[in-house]
Amino acid sequence: MTLVLYGLLWLALSIVVALLWGIHPGGDAMSDKPTLEQVLRAKSVLEPISGCWLWRGFLNRGRLWVVTYAGKRRAAHRFSWLAWRGELSEKDLVCHRCDVPACINPDHLFLGTHAANASDRNAKGRQIAGISSHNQNLQIKMY
Ligand SMILES: [Zn+2]
Repeated sequence: MTLVLYGLLWLALSIVVALLWGIHPGGDAMSDKPTLEQVLRAKSVLEPISGCWLWRGFLNRGRLWVVTYAGKRRAAHRFSWLAWRGELSEKDLVCHRCDVPACINPDHLFLGTHAANASDRNAKGRQIAGISSHNQNLQIKMY
């Protein structure tokens, strides 16, 4: 009879230990996962003169600096906006004040519209001759 009681006590104790053990390593494992901010900072280099954070991650087809985070694939500067500035809808356009496409410094980014971005781009003389309306969106998103 005493043996059964000891057995039950041991079982209860090991359940408590297992629960406590389960909570703590779980918490540590969560904090080990890099945040979006950490990923972006780790893969960019500060350009000291302009203050630009130059993305040195994956460049997709020579056009868009792409990040994959939490299963989502987006342009790096759009992820930067999400990380430091907040929500972003698909319609929102993240533009560069510094005109450096590789820059992901949130202080150099602003939200614009497609129309405003296109006129800004034209004013700066960066419109590519012969661009088709089909890939215009892709081209605009680069800036
Ligand atoms: Zn910049």
